[in-house]
Amino acid sequence: MTHLPAPTQLAGWTHTYSGKVRDLYTPANGSAAYLLVVASNRVSAFDHVLEPPIAGKGALLTALSNWWFDRIELPNHLVPAGAGGADSPPAVPAEVADRAMLTRRLDMYPIECVVRGALTGSGFAEYERTGAVCGIELPSGIADGDLLDTPIYTPAYKAPLGEHDENITFERSVELVGEEVAAALRDASLKIFTAARELAADRGVVLADTKFEFGRDPRTGELVLADEVLTSDSSRYWDAAVYGDDSLSRQDRLASFDKQIVRNWLASHWDKTGEPPVLPDEIVAQTYDRYRELYVRLTGAQPPFPAPAS
Ligand code: ATP
Ligand code: MG
Repeated sequence: MTHLPAPTQLAGWTHTYSGKVRDLYTPANGSAAYLLVVASNRVSAFDHVLEPPIAGKGALLTALSNWWFDRIELPNHLVPAGAGGADSPPAVPAEVADRAMLTRRLDMYPIECVVRGALTGSGFAEYERTGAVCGIELPSGIADGDLLDTPIYTPAYKAPLGEHDENITFERSVELVGEEVAAALRDASLKIFTAARELAADRGVVLADTKFEFGRDPRTGELVLADEVLTSDSSRYWDAAVYGDDSLSRQDRLASFDKQIVRNWLASHWDKTGEPPVLPDEIVAQTYDRYRELYVRLTGAQPPFPAPAS
């Protein structure tokens, strides 16, 4: 993987970690109660972080996640402005306000709660090999990208840094977090997915699959929905009209809503050895438009911030 740029210094916060796309900060005063999750404009494909960043992407993903959080009837990790009382969090710095989530810091469960409403990607590969995904037997004859009548819960063990996440059975998740929590994670994930899939379908978008992460609030013991939710970085969205167009190849029908432009361009301009080439301006602009279109389609509103200067 390419190296990441040095993280922005933020007043009141200490940088603690950067994933491929997001930067995490904890309060500089040492409080363990809060975590600032900042979505960068980085875009990754084929395990590389690409240049240049997609201006506006972090804000779009953050706005989409917030929009979904608002619609999910489960406790989530967002800290409302002004909350905190005696142990109030440092202010969210203005320069990242659009793309930052102020969250209560949770003890995260080491499970990626994946739900699939269609079989593709690693789930389809496992099905082709074994006839099952994460121990769930499926009928024969399912083709890549076919919708499943009933969404399935296919958890993955969130491997420590540098290792690959590993698909696990529900029984294995019970061993990891106990029966009660494992069942709660599964039930909550399926419930959120089912409602979200219906809402997306109404707006001409297929929610193929997604991943949730949950944690436990160390103060209350409450199970809390965390991380980002139902963004195009954590989910696979398809355009329903394209997905349903039988005149297209299967590969084109399953083009993901967001990064396909980047992937297609790279596939024809790079042999996947060494560093990837710098994305041309028009690819950056088209990618931003695509992320924006998903936001507008799902929410029915314009993004709550101006378009980036190009
Ligand atoms: P990748 O680049 O593959 O996504 P990653 O998952 O390690 O790697 P990020 O997604 O950027 O990187 O990191 C976000 C991290 O923050 C995840 O490990 C997630 O579990 C954790 N996290 C999210 N919300 C909270 C929270 N409220 N409290 C504690 N940790 C959280
Ligand atoms: Mg992550």
